[in-house]
Amino acid sequence: MLIDTHTHLYLPDFDEDRTDIMDRCEKTGVKRVYLPAIDSRTHESMLKMELEFPEMVYSMMGLHPCSVKENFEEELAICEKYLGDRKFVAIGEIGIDLFWDKTFVEEQKIALIRQCNWARDLDIPVVIHSRESMDLIIQILKKERIQGLTGIFHCFTGSTEQAMEAIKLGFNLGIGGVLTYKNTKLGEHLIPVPMEHLVLETDSPYLTPVPFRGKRNESSYIRLVAEKLAQVKDIDIHDVERITTENALRIFKN
Ligand SMILES: [Zn+2]
Repeated sequence: MLIDTHTHLYLPDFDEDRTDIMDRCEKTGVKRVYLPAIDSRTHESMLKMELEFPEMVYSMMGLHPCSVKENFEEELAICEKYLGDRKFVAIGEIGIDLFWDKTFVEEQKIALIRQCNWARDLDIPVVIHSRESMDLIIQILKKERIQGLTGIFHCFTGSTEQAMEAIKLGFNLGIGGVLTYKNTKLGEHLIPVPMEHLVLETDSPYLTPVPFRGKRNESSYIRLVAEKLAQVKDIDIHDVERITTENALRIFKN
């Protein structure tokens, strides 16, 4: 059994064949997928997908750092309303993105801290997007000292040192398609990192693993990431499946 801890299967990219994709998940042993929210343009389609596949799909709620703009307070208020209405498995995805656009970096920080505090109040984990910002986020989390906060640094591509720092803070690392890329040192960096802190993800439709790189990603491809991780860690694929599944269930408490 495998779990995709981070996949945007509710996006329009999958409107034509979502049912086929979920069938392929079933067939390849991907029994659960977790959907990170982006912003108010897609919250409803995410929740609709969760209703369509209630046994397999779990939604998070939050404001993506790339969607933090002038109107971020309104967007946060919308998230808060959803969070008041029902239970979610995590606050996500939240964080800071310094790759695309730095205009709203201060607002991104405010939104990150606010949403981390929601997670603490609700006693649920956070799923963090940290593109080009891992050290900054670690620094913020240390400074804020948000009691009992836990979660996942999604799409982890950092160094061994950064991985260990995140783990020390109570976090786990989401490993995706990047691990299969030819030019990456990620595999090497993960060798000393304990398996107990690793979970698998696709980030579909992005970051497609080899040999499908360049095409649309989907959750059944997570098996390619699991195979690569088994190779990197020199352990059996069944151990990768078992341990990453246990980790995901522990983190999301469900
Ligand atoms: Zn994502």
